[in-house]
Amino acid sequence: MATTMKENGKERVLVVEDNPSNLKLVVFLLEKEGFLVKQATDAQHGIQISKEWKPDLILMDIQMPGMDGLTATRLLKDNPETAEIRIVALTALAMPGDRERASAAGCDGYITKPIHYQEFLETVKRVLASGNA
Ligand code: MN
Repeated sequence: MATTMKENGKERVLVVEDNPSNLKLVVFLLEKEGFLVKQATDAQHGIQISKEWKPDLILMDIQMPGMDGLTATRLLKDNPETAEIRIVALTALAMPGDRERASAAGCDGYITKPIHYQEFLETVKRVLASGNA
């Protein structure tokens, strides 16, 4: 596993989410918890920031206009530059097989919306600590 890179001692999280209120909530929770956070509202921008910034973790919304989050995850995991970055899927869909699809695309964890604060932070910390959720 790659060594966790830190900036001023803070772990870095990129949030890729097209819904403004979900984005705002997730960024607020992460910053309150002491993470250094960047955000993107579409997959293309998210991939660009991932390559430039190499965050410790990406929270990737699955359903987005244009490129969806699972396609973006596959591209990041297939690219040696970004393959080591851990990715947690964010989805509003609690459909059977959804978790398996996220896992098959290379996601290291899975969080369903609406966000439950405690569970959300536990999953983020667990994936950062172990690389697996
Ligand atoms: Mn969405």
